[in-house]
Amino acid sequence: MTVPLQDSQANRFHAIDRIIAGEDATAPEVYQYVRALQTAIGEGASLCERIARRLIALKHRVVFLFTGFVVPDFYPQGENDGPLGTLALARALQRLEARPVIWVDPELLDTLRWLAGEFGTPIPIHPIHSETLTARAHEPDAVIAIEKPGTNAAGRLHTFDGAAILGGSEPIDSLFHQWNERGTFTLGIGDRGNEIGFGRWASVVHRLRPATTTCRCGCGGGVVSTTETEYLLPAAVSNWGAYGLAAALAHITSNASLAFHPDEERRLLHVAAVRGCVDGVHRRCGFGVDGIEGECSVDVVRSLYELASDRKA
Ligand SMILES: [Zn+2]
Repeated sequence: MTVPLQDSQANRFHAIDRIIAGEDATAPEVYQYVRALQTAIGEGASLCERIARRLIALKHRVVFLFTGFVVPDFYPQGENDGPLGTLALARALQRLEARPVIWVDPELLDTLRWLAGEFGTPIPIHPIHSETLTARAHEPDAVIAIEKPGTNAAGRLHTFDGAAILGGSEPIDSLFHQWNERGTFTLGIGDRGNEIGFGRWASVVHRLRPATTTCRCGCGGGVVSTTETEYLLPAAVSNWGAYGLAAALAHITSNASLAFHPDEERRLLHVAAVRGCVDGVHRRCGFGVDGIEGECSVDVVRSLYELASDRKA
């Protein structure tokens, strides 16, 4: 994938949106689905630019980032989509002098700490416990859910292919409802529609992907989450959405250190596999994410890095 580096500013942000939608990196139907959603939400404007400009205003502010997709039957140690993007975006926010705090399912706590150690990024990381979170719900000025399962109309969490999540990730949707009501900045980053943030766009997901209207657990609610966020960033892979925001932040501030580097993607994908964190589509540990080969994801990160920084990765 090559992107001309001399593109105008607006073109560059649109290119970031297309890269995270999987242009040349995923199946055409996936790319078309994500682009259609991005276009519906952004009404022609770049979503990465719009959200990044909002994130820049969070200097000195507390930002809670949530990740973790744990399903006992398929991913007891969680999946690798979400944690990597969360770290990349949290580091960019920290370098912008915001105060990020990561919250993750208890099953993934050690993994996140291993990944953060490999990444060399000292960010507080806590396990998601509803009592602790409820007690600290007044703290954040902004909250971001990255590949975090969200409840459907029947109040259940689902995998993208329609299985109910029972005994894995605990729902944190009620907190997001509170934050929305309170006027806290809320952002969801997701891919298939079963994650926190898709609520307002559920009918668009249903139209683009009719299979999402049904599930296999009998609850009748389908797989799409009804939990809304103020901003939603759909991507072909949720990690890529977070990397796209880091790239947009790097470009806006002319600070390449905010962007995620392809060498980091390669290293962190390996560490995640060693920790038992799986590719959510193949449902096994390996060098890849969401059914996409690892080197392809590294190439996506390289394209974003070079676009954001005007330098070769
Ligand atoms: Zn169901």
